[in-house]
Amino acid sequence: MTVSIYDLETWDKEYVWHPFTQMKVYRQEKPLIIERGEGSYLYDIEGKKYLDGYSSLWVNVHGHNHPELNAALTEQAGKIAHSTLLGSANVPSILLAKKLVDNTPPNLTKVFYSDSGSTSVEIALKMAYQYWKLKDPARFSGKKSKFISLREAYHGDTIGSVSVGGMDTFHHIFKPLLFDRLEAPAPYTYRLTENNDEEACKTMCLDALEAILKERHSEVAGLIIEPLVQGAAGMITAPVGFLRGVRELCTRYNVLMIADEVAVGFGRTGTLFACEQEQVEPDFLCIAKGLTAGYLPLAATLTTEEIFEAFLGEPEELRTFFHGHTYTGNQLACAVALKNIELIEREDLLATLPNKINFLAQKLIPFRELPHVGDVRQQGMMIGIELVQEKASKKTFPAQMQVEHQVILRARMGGAIIRPLGPVIVLMPILSMSTGELEQLIDITYEAIATVTVRAHALQR
Ligand code: PMP
Repeated sequence: MTVSIYDLETWDKEYVWHPFTQMKVYRQEKPLIIERGEGSYLYDIEGKKYLDGYSSLWVNVHGHNHPELNAALTEQAGKIAHSTLLGSANVPSILLAKKLVDNTPPNLTKVFYSDSGSTSVEIALKMAYQYWKLKDPARFSGKKSKFISLREAYHGDTIGSVSVGGMDTFHHIFKPLLFDRLEAPAPYTYRLTENNDEEACKTMCLDALEAILKERHSEVAGLIIEPLVQGAAGMITAPVGFLRGVRELCTRYNVLMIADEVAVGFGRTGTLFACEQEQVEPDFLCIAKGLTAGYLPLAATLTTEEIFEAFLGEPEELRTFFHGHTYTGNQLACAVALKNIELIEREDLLATLPNKINFLAQKLIPFRELPHVGDVRQQGMMIGIELVQEKASKKTFPAQMQVEHQVILRARMGGAIIRPLGPVIVLMPILSMSTGELEQLIDITYEAIATVTVRAHALQR
């Protein structure tokens, strides 16, 4: 049976329920069906070529269809695709664990595998909770069982990770299913201060966090944070020193710090991990997305010797960590992850980033002059352009106008795939993109924003 483009488009609308998507709207539009990728480009089933401006949901590192990553995958597939870490080990997962420990903050010495960013967060939450229980079983009685997270936090879509989420749009509907969290303010400088005053924002947010810790620290097991950038919230970039300040408060008030580097890890912010930029050693590090350079689902939660040791010994039923997904430590994924890190090292990828980051910063300057751009935020190779209807009041366009969606469609016509997050147009270029490709991506985005926002504003009046 030959399958036509028409069949694929029809069956997609008929059978596939897309994530984070209003399906009524989706079904009214022509679906974008990707068939292949090459380097920085994606190709749809009609052969149209697009720059991958979102790294295929923030995962791609070295480009699509990379010969060495492909070879690592097929070589491993020729040996075995999967066995299990329950009661046995496998070679790629051992080598990868060592590689991760060697390349993450020095206090992190243990690696627990899973298969998505959300599960890496679940594991950190459960381990932190159980750690306190084990540390002093006689006195525990449910104390130190709460978690602090930031307003606008996003840590995944499973129930535990949603419980520590702070984005009303995504999370409020599930409230009755969630455990309580304590909320600290997000360092959203643009919205919290008059003149983008980063120092004032940092002090305000750290003071508020300290007030919560002072009063509630005896109930708090851990604090979870997206280091340097709150990605899904619309690239909220933290003021310099904020992360370090959070680490100091966690230490002072005896609360475990969970760094969720699912989005910011693997070079996104210019260093291999974002924590490095402020010499922060978290008690847990959650990684996923870029771990396999966009090839396969794999995640890991790294932790310290001290936490690991609390789980050793008797009684077994209390000190065992009862958690393990079927594909934990999968060989194919670990083999590709190893090759990903080898390529980052061999090609000195991190050394190529400062030039690209500066180039992007220069190219972003003119966006600030656009009448409907309120704020432009950049942290390394992560960019958020916040659209507003009115600069003075910082009022956003009414959601029903779907301005951001129109920007994305316009950019697609121009040859780039990007995604919005609320009123923010997000750019997450593949780290291996050339400056020529980055320039093209920025130019397409500029044209789309300039045209669509002015038109939308005129329609409103
Ligand atoms: N944490 C952060 C900071 C993320 O950005 C994401 C995904 N965007 C997740 C967790 C969840 O990862 P996954 O979608 O792989 O479950």
